[in-house]
Amino acid sequence: MIYLHVPFCKSFCAYCDFYSEVCPANESERAQKLFADRMCREIDGRRDEIEASRGLRTLYIGGGTPSVLNIGELQRIVRHLDAGPYEEFTIEVNPEDIVLRGPAYVEALLELGVSRISMGVQSMDDGVLRWMRRRHDSARATEAVRILREAGVRNLSLDLIFGLSQLSPAHWRSTLDQVLALCPEHLSAYQLSIEPGSALAEMVRQGTYVEAPDEQCRGQYEALCERMEAAGFRHYEISNFALPGREAVHNSAYWRRLPYVGLGPGAHSFDGKRQRSWNSEALSGWQRSTETLTDEAVRLETLMLGLRTAEGLPAAWLRAHSETRPLQALLAEGSLCQVQDRIRIPEDHFFVSDDIIRTLS
Ligand code: SF4
Repeated sequence: MIYLHVPFCKSFCAYCDFYSEVCPANESERAQKLFADRMCREIDGRRDEIEASRGLRTLYIGGGTPSVLNIGELQRIVRHLDAGPYEEFTIEVNPEDIVLRGPAYVEALLELGVSRISMGVQSMDDGVLRWMRRRHDSARATEAVRILREAGVRNLSLDLIFGLSQLSPAHWRSTLDQVLALCPEHLSAYQLSIEPGSALAEMVRQGTYVEAPDEQCRGQYEALCERMEAAGFRHYEISNFALPGREAVHNSAYWRRLPYVGLGPGAHSFDGKRQRSWNSEALSGWQRSTETLTDEAVRLETLMLGLRTAEGLPAAWLRAHSETRPLQALLAEGSLCQVQDRIRIPEDHFFVSDDIIRTLS
């Protein structure tokens, strides 16, 4: 399982705190070449780990905006990695890049082995998209999907954001209808959060944005769950919906705490047991730090990741690693439910999962 971080964006979105750099156009080519050189060096230095991570053969290229990277540099990195064929090879793309680069770019991705595209649509409301400082509008998102499909993409995941205070129920329903009309196999929908250091955090500080009340966010989440169920999607993780058999293999493995190797600035790695490491966020040369998780950290992580999913956790594990009284109370009030030998958060309680997990931790 390999994650590769591409830390380039053409501009910053209002809500974002991911590690990324906006390079001036005249420096972009040089910066991308240097980045690819450094990635190849990191790959060389971590061949043993990459080899050991091949229990699950997935490659996920995220960012930043991987579709900002020139196809030549992307091909160089993926070919140098030489860890395929992959059970699932996902790349994140921006709709504007797909429209600008056109079908030839998408065909080159497929030729490289990409089997799944994850595209950040975020909204189908142009006013909301402008407020988010996204580069595309809804027409570009629709056009990008057409290009992807015509070029042969058969597994498409779209991202949406809800929980904005200016998002009315009607606008949210309209976005859901328009996105479903694009026929994705998978949809991820994240509640807007105010990340320290983002432009949005500054807007909140200056009083130009007021967070949506919890009830409004809950209403949007419930509308999302209802609409996705009606469209035949399985709600397999708090923020993720898939048509049967189209669940994300790579992301599902994170929630099961399987080992992965993260390459590139800001990327994290995990040995599947106790060893976690991360690269510093520095395009000019990233350094690796490592920590060994304590028993308590492993317990909390297992709890938080497992209860995010529809599978939940083995009941025997949860009983052995939680205090009896809060666990029984959560089961009795319906905040948790047991299905055969597993315990999960029922879908109608997903929205308050943080509170439930906090009670158990
Ligand atoms: S949301 Fe994506 S495209 Fe926007 S700034 Fe963050 S990483 Fe870049």
